[in-house]
Amino acid sequence: MNETLDWQCRDEENIMHALKRASKQPLIIENAKGCFIKDSDGNKYLDGMGGLWCVNVGYGREELAEAAAEQMKNMSYFPMTNSHLPAIELAEKLNTWLNNDYVIFFSNSGSEANEMAFKIARQYHSQNDSSSRYKIISRYRSYHGATMGALAATGQAERKYKYEPLAAGFLHTVPPDCYHCPLNKKPSTCNLECTDLIDHTITWEGEETVAAIIMEPYISGGGVLVPPQGYMERVKDICERHGVLLIVDEVINGFGRTGKMFGHFHENVTPDIITMAKGLTSGYLPLSVTAIHKDCYEAFETSEKYDHFRSVTTFGGNPAACAVALKNIEIIEREKYIENAYNQGEQLYEDMKELLSHPNVGDIRYKGLMMGIELVEDSINKTPIHEDKINLVLSKCKEKGVIIGKNGDTVDGFNNVLTIAPPLSIDAGTIRFLS
Ligand code: PLP
Repeated sequence: MNETLDWQCRDEENIMHALKRASKQPLIIENAKGCFIKDSDGNKYLDGMGGLWCVNVGYGREELAEAAAEQMKNMSYFPMTNSHLPAIELAEKLNTWLNNDYVIFFSNSGSEANEMAFKIARQYHSQNDSSSRYKIISRYRSYHGATMGALAATGQAERKYKYEPLAAGFLHTVPPDCYHCPLNKKPSTCNLECTDLIDHTITWEGEETVAAIIMEPYISGGGVLVPPQGYMERVKDICERHGVLLIVDEVINGFGRTGKMFGHFHENVTPDIITMAKGLTSGYLPLSVTAIHKDCYEAFETSEKYDHFRSVTTFGGNPAACAVALKNIEIIEREKYIENAYNQGEQLYEDMKELLSHPNVGDIRYKGLMMGIELVEDSINKTPIHEDKINLVLSKCKEKGVIIGKNGDTVDGFNNVLTIAPPLSIDAGTIRFLS
């Protein structure tokens, strides 16, 4: 038995996986360096998905291993019911990017960061004498996590239908899906009318029942949707008019992925709550953040008995994870990976755009180093290409030594977008392997 087959048997015997794989044989990775991963048989691949949209600084950074080791030797753990130095330093560092406007709550995953955001939004309204405001609005096609609240906020039927009923009080409105514009607008005639539907949704629901809207600046896992400029500002205006908080999910968009430090920096928008994970540590250790604007945080600073945020997490803000995040941000800044994400993203599109003349390529969307290629059977009707064909493309890429991804699954019919999100450290020579 060859080595990979042996590992595959042991994997199958002992591990439950989350996703139905494009190929029955999982990649069993033994080693990873820079933008490349190597399996247990020594086959090398370019990781065009940066793990799961998260390895922003690339694999195998000794500086990050050293930061974790030093912190573990000095002080391995203390709960954030009190505090510790790396957490304070990291919160300060994040605030240098956020105009010192936020306080930081730590947890462990993107899902958990969003759960915290929902609790904070509801508690904020409750402590401002608006306890009728409990509904959270998100957009179809979005992904916000796998836990019962974050999954309820997710707008993809296929991920949810086996687990319903999920958390109550979550509802959905239209996404900025320009290729399939629900209002049949063309870019030349679009005046961001889809945001009017968000406005109407709040009114129809009764604004006094709505706590928050959650949105990714650029929907990523749901097929890379890039709305026209001005979309986020319009949504923020709507939120302000209705007294609704805006939660911006930066779990994928954050830490340079879209060519700016945070996705919402592409417009003049100040979110009430920001969630972060993935690129925060480039996946080296689990850590997530829920950042609360200080104007919003005031509601938690009263001396009333139950007015503090009643949420304890054992591992959130783990000291080694904070030390890694700090070093990771230092690398992103020092190596100018945000600018690189922008430049390589432009290059990738330049190299890819000729694919648009292929009858099965409906659309190519991108922001920084995050790209979606929508494959269709028929470019007039925009019928999604059959799942088998998209899986064939993925396995052909793998045969050629490149790993890319796809969005979603079968139930809602939106599983036809190839996704590309390599490490932001990718250079001009290596990015060419993707096209
Ligand atoms: N939010 C977004 C936008 C995501 O893409 C994800 C994960 O892919 C999450 C939240 C959930 O993050 P996690 O998988 O760390 O729980």
